Amino acid sequence: MRNSEPQDVIIQGTERIRWSVPGKEEGPVMVVFAGIHGNETAGIHAIDSVASDLDEANSDLNGSVYSITGNMRALELGVRYVDTDLNRLWENGFDRSQYSPSGTANHTVEYKESLEIKRAVEWILDKHREKASRFIFIDLHTTSSESCAFILINDTLANRELARKFPVPQILGFEENIHGTLLSYINNIGHLSLGFEAGAHTDEASIERSKAFLWLAMHWLEIRRLSDSDVEYYEHQLDIHPNVPDSYYEVNYHKIVNDPTKFEMKSGFQNFDIIKKGTPLAKEHGEVIEAPVSGRIFMPLYQKKGRDGFLIINEVSPFWLKLSAYLRKSFVHKLLRFLPGVYVVNERAFKIDLTVAKFLVKDIFHLFGYRVVRTGEDTVICYRR
Ligand SMILES: [Zn+2]
Repeated sequence: MRNSEPQDVIIQGTERIRWSVPGKEEGPVMVVFAGIHGNETAGIHAIDSVASDLDEANSDLNGSVYSITGNMRALELGVRYVDTDLNRLWENGFDRSQYSPSGTANHTVEYKESLEIKRAVEWILDKHREKASRFIFIDLHTTSSESCAFILINDTLANRELARKFPVPQILGFEENIHGTLLSYINNIGHLSLGFEAGAHTDEASIERSKAFLWLAMHWLEIRRLSDSDVEYYEHQLDIHPNVPDSYYEVNYHKIVNDPTKFEMKSGFQNFDIIKKGTPLAKEHGEVIEAPVSGRIFMPLYQKKGRDGFLIINEVSPFWLKLSAYLRKSFVHKLLRFLPGVYVVNERAFKIDLTVAKFLVKDIFHLFGYRVVRTGEDTVICYRR
C-alpha cells in the first residue's frame, strides 16, 4: 500500500496507520477504524479490500483516506479485548483515571493500544489541519446477534446530516448510555464521527456491507464520486430489512451486566426485534429478566464478554427531530438557564436538580442538543454536544 510517509514521523502513531491513500490536500480527510474489537474482523477485510481497489483504480481522490488498525493484540488472539474494552475507555477527553480506579490502567493492553491510536489520530490531524476541508472518522463494528446494518451517532446536527445519507436505521445519543467510546472522544475534539455496525460477527455479508458503506461514504463526502447506478448498487448491498424502518431511534433502556458469565440472553433474538413490556429476555444469576419497557431489542449480548446485556430502543418522531434541529440553531437555548432547578456549570454544561425540575428534563435538553448524564439520584448534568 502507499504508506510512504517520510521518516520524521512518530513511529508509534504511524504504525497504527494500516494504509493511506493520499489525494487532493484541500479535500476532506476520512479516517476509518477497524478491529477496535478484536473478534470483529469484517471491517478489517472490508477496508483492505477497498484500499486495494482504490490502488488498482489509481483514483485521483478529492481528499485523503486513512485506515487505523484497532486492538492489535486482541485481533491476534481473536478476542473482543484482552484486559478491558478498548471502546469504553475514552471518556472525558481521555482521562485514564476514569476507567481504572485501581490505578493499574497504565499496564493494561488496551491502555497502550489506545495511546497508539490516539497518536495516530493526532498525527493525521496535524498533517492535514492546515489544508483539509474537514475530518470524518468512521468506526467499523459487527454485533454478536444477527442484525441488519445500522449507524450509531452522537446526536449532533452535523453527524445527523451525514448519517442521513445512508438508508439504514440510525441510533441517536448512544453515548449517553455507553460511555467512553472512541467516537465520543472524536466528537469531543470536534470532528464528525459515525459508527457503522455491519451485521453479525460471523456473517460473510457483514464484509460486503462494510465495503458498501465505505464506498458510499467516500461518495457522499465527495472524496470519490460514484455513478448513480453504483450508488444504487451499494445501497442494495447494505441489504435493508423491510421490517426495520431506516429512521431514527433512541435508547430507552440499558441493561448493564456485572458478570457476563452469569448472564444468559434467551436465544433467538435478532437485533431490532419488536418486544413488549414484560417479555422475558434473559437470565441473570438464574433469575428471569423481563423487558421493563416496550420497544425494539438492541444489541442483545450473545458472547461472554462485555457489560452491555441489551438495550431497548424506540423510534423518534420526525416532528421531534425537526423541532430539535430548529431549536439548536436558534437563540432559545440561552433561556434554559432560567428554568427552575437549572444551574450553570460552565459555558457548555448545566446541572439540573431533579427534585425541582421534575418533568421532561431529559427531553427538553435533548431537543437543544445536550447530552444528559445522571450524576446522582437527584441530579443530572447536561453537556452541550
Ligand atoms: Zn464492536
